[in-house]
Amino acid sequence: MSELSDLYQEVILDHSRHPHNYHAMADASRKAEGYNPLCGDTVTVYLKLDGDKIQDASFEGHGCAISKSSASIMTDLVKGKSSTEAAALFEKFRLMVTGEAKVAADPTDKLTVFSGVSEFPTRVKCAVLGWHTLRSALENKAAKVSTESI
Ligand code: ZN
Repeated sequence: MSELSDLYQEVILDHSRHPHNYHAMADASRKAEGYNPLCGDTVTVYLKLDGDKIQDASFEGHGCAISKSSASIMTDLVKGKSSTEAAALFEKFRLMVTGEAKVAADPTDKLTVFSGVSEFPTRVKCAVLGWHTLRSALENKAAKVSTESI
């Protein structure tokens, strides 16, 4: 394993041990729950919207290091973004973790710490769970997200 992927593994472990934005949001304007039955990951995403802009984002959940660190980095990244910008980030992330787009690892782009996930198909759903749940919150869907249907 290269030094770079060691570094990225460290970032993932650090975010899973000390997740950012890890709390319920009492005054959230949107909330959605997601579940990945393959791994047992659960996540609840909270958003505070100002019009179309994501003013604040947080999450709670239980699961593996990949699902937790992905939601941690996601909530950091989408703050201040419009729902369209967040959707574009999700698409970029999805193409990268599924291996549909080859993305070069870039130390200045936190999303790319997950580029190695494409080599582990069973972990792809762990990585995208938070993002699918975010999209559900943005679309204000009531149904719980399950990675079985994605
Ligand atoms: Zn998982």
